[in-house]
Amino acid sequence: MTDVKLVVQRFDPFVDLKPKLAEYTVPKREGMTVLDALLYARDYLDHSIAVRFSCRQASCGSCGMKINGRPRLACYTQIDELKGDKVLTQPLDNFAIIKDLVTDLDSFFSKHRQQMPYIMRSDAQELEKPTGEFMMKPDELEKVLQFTYCIKCGLCTSSCPTVAMDSKFPGPQALAQAYRYLMDERDEGGERRLEALDDAHGVWRCHFAGSCSFVCPKGVDPALGIQLLRRHVLSGKPPRKAGEGAKVVTTTQAQK
Ligand code: SF4
Repeated sequence: MTDVKLVVQRFDPFVDLKPKLAEYTVPKREGMTVLDALLYARDYLDHSIAVRFSCRQASCGSCGMKINGRPRLACYTQIDELKGDKVLTQPLDNFAIIKDLVTDLDSFFSKHRQQMPYIMRSDAQELEKPTGEFMMKPDELEKVLQFTYCIKCGLCTSSCPTVAMDSKFPGPQALAQAYRYLMDERDEGGERRLEALDDAHGVWRCHFAGSCSFVCPKGVDPALGIQLLRRHVLSGKPPRKAGEGAKVVTTTQAQK
């Protein structure tokens, strides 16, 4: 068994003037992930290391951090796939540091909420007292499917050069979700969505660096979503208006 040289960027904004690096020697085991190594260091070597995690299976998006300089999920990165004799862990760029590897995602989630990430309908009564389901056709689902895989880990936003320069820019995650709901055939809120996007700090600020799509651990292509979104903002025409969304299919109809 060899050891892992784990380097953790330490910073407590209430105590430290600037970040410093601390090195820990962790016994390596087969299949060990960077999160495993960090938790070993925290449990057995230094209880004060701050790291956020939850599902340990690339589903919750909690353990995003820079690993050897690139935004990754710590639970989804095995030590063996990394090059070099040390593993350097640092907090994600473009977010304030709460402590060590834990960043403040408040603005990230608030920008996500600003895109109204829910289905908007004109038939409020059906939403209140559903008689069935709004079924999607397979080809319509295909248009948005990859964007539904987003786990809101923030890796794309941390790698975005425009987010680094413009704090009002919604960022690739939020804009990709705007596209996902605009194109959802059950949604009728297109006019409101396009209006919100056509802003000096909105969809036009993307320089198409493409780093968001490069780092996404779930295969989402936010850069593509932003480009496709621009077409709709430019035309000013939502894919459908109030009353044109997918019709409700009752349980009896679905069984026929
Ligand atoms: S688009 Fe990808 S990188 Fe961005 S938040 Fe969603 S899952 Fe994470």
